[in-house]
Amino acid sequence: MLTLAIESTAHTFGASVVNSKGKILSDIRDMYQTKKEGLEPRKVAEHHKNIGDLIIEKALKDSKKKMKGISFISFSQGPGLPLSLVEGMRFAKLLAKAHKKPLIGVNHICAHLEIGKLLTKARNPVFVFTSGANTQIIAHEGGKYRIFGECLSIALGNALDKFAREIGLGFPGGPKIEQLAKSGKKYIELPYVVKGMDVEFSGIVTHAINLYKKGVSKEDLCYSLQETMFAMLVEVTERALAHCDKNEVLLIGGVAANQRLCEMLNIMCRERKAKFYAVPIKYSGDNAAMIGWQGILEHKKRESFDKIDIKPNWRIDQVETIWIK
Ligand code: AMP
Ligand code: MG
Repeated sequence: MLTLAIESTAHTFGASVVNSKGKILSDIRDMYQTKKEGLEPRKVAEHHKNIGDLIIEKALKDSKKKMKGISFISFSQGPGLPLSLVEGMRFAKLLAKAHKKPLIGVNHICAHLEIGKLLTKARNPVFVFTSGANTQIIAHEGGKYRIFGECLSIALGNALDKFAREIGLGFPGGPKIEQLAKSGKKYIELPYVVKGMDVEFSGIVTHAINLYKKGVSKEDLCYSLQETMFAMLVEVTERALAHCDKNEVLLIGGVAANQRLCEMLNIMCRERKAKFYAVPIKYSGDNAAMIGWQGILEHKKRESFDKIDIKPNWRIDQVETIWIK
């Protein structure tokens, strides 16, 4: 069984061929980037529209497979930016129709979780999912993925990107902040907001931006921003571990590429005798390989072609996890 998968929830357009054993035969992507400004949904969708054919063609070629060997098409149905999602679905539907293949729409967040499990061999972890658009503490309990804690306003990746944009670093800002933070010397106190299992990042960013405008050093602010926001996330993760009585933590999503976040979660896990895993950096950000693997897991799912549509606000606790026994 082979699937050709498409990802297009936000900044990245990707295509990938994956087999039923979880082998990634190809993984091609192109991320919309800017030098200074943030993401503009219309420009992102335009990017996907222009690059889609080329990316899909490359993914097939790299996999050394032909369309006739593909069993079905998988695509990222949501959650995400509506205009970006529509572009991905359009390519997926065109392919499915032209080559008479079934079409399977999958949940993008589920795909982040499952590729993490596939590549790390974590079995039943508490997931720390931190991406551009989402920050959620998730675990599989009572037959479905449940969200135990989440960001109340903006997500961790978005918070980093917002600060980066304000200080002229462009998009994506997370990796640049991580580099600048290494030269930070002084810890500056910023608002630390944890409410039960939820975290709130928007006030911190506003506060940091104001300090930057008053002349506080970029490096110290990047360092303090990371230390404060990551500590909040570690605190709620620890609480979720105790609450769910689990002994594994798996970090996934784009911000999983941050070494300092990995280090802080790892220390907390060691102290609790839990095992810490992070998805390999290559698969931490948005990619179509994870959409392919999720499609494989859900290969039995069939929906009427005409009824398949994007689901911009699809929450993970609404997904039927038929592949988990
Ligand atoms: P995703 O939405 O899962 O593709 O992840 C993209 C987000 O991850 C963006 O907000 C990036 O700024 C963030 N990101 C990527 N690499 C890093 C890093 N090394 N440190 C912090 N954030 C990062
Ligand atoms: Mg994502």
